[in-house]
Amino acid sequence: MEPTRPQLLLSTGIDPDSVDWDLLARFEAGLYEWNQRVNLTRVPRERFFVRHVIDSLLFQDLIPSGSRVLDLGTGPGFPAWPLAWARQDLHVTALDSSGKPLAFLRSQALPNLEVLQGRAEELGVSESFDVVTGRALAPLAIQLELSASPCAVGGWVLPLRTASDVSAIEAFDPRVLGLELVRIERRTLPIEEAARVCPVYRKIVTTPTDYPRPWAEIRKRPLGSST
Ligand code: SAH
Repeated sequence: MEPTRPQLLLSTGIDPDSVDWDLLARFEAGLYEWNQRVNLTRVPRERFFVRHVIDSLLFQDLIPSGSRVLDLGTGPGFPAWPLAWARQDLHVTALDSSGKPLAFLRSQALPNLEVLQGRAEELGVSESFDVVTGRALAPLAIQLELSASPCAVGGWVLPLRTASDVSAIEAFDPRVLGLELVRIERRTLPIEEAARVCPVYRKIVTTPTDYPRPWAEIRKRPLGSST
């Protein structure tokens, strides 16, 4: 038999008695209702809890208590919404350039969740978040270039990646962005048995003001490419 939702949540380190399950049910129903009109997710509803909620929380224990968290390219709110739902100690800011998924996310308000529309490279906010994360935003080097500047010195950049990214993680030197790779966390998404990876970067010095570069340049010459 498959484990229950409370059991799965507990496996991420979250006490199932500490969360509001009705809010989650409302989020899930809203996501699949909106999904009939606006393309928000390709994950079938039977897999919603594992592929969206547990996947968003798989590395939540790496986020220090009380952190200001920035989620870049949140789409309909992953990992931002599950993080804010499960970790009431966090203050989560969810950013995306696209208005449609954010209109859904704004309909699912949480007291510790802030929703912002804009492009990460135009955010103009530097050194103000304790943790910067993101799932399925862009290739690793691009995600890191977008994530480094908003992260405070002493804070953490925690990109949610897959096993296929390990060689790219090992090859990329993040010091140009003021980051240091501390370790690579590898975990398995339950039921799906899919490998997930979170490289743990510490921001050690202020990111040079040259980064992030304008989008056209980031795309044309991602950091670490030889051209
Ligand atoms: N994080 C969500 C959505 C991933 S899809 C999830 O895991 O389900 C990628 C999202 O990143 C899209 O919603 C897209 O609009 C957004 N995005 C891509 N580049 C961006 C940028 N430079 N700034 C802000 N958002 C961006």
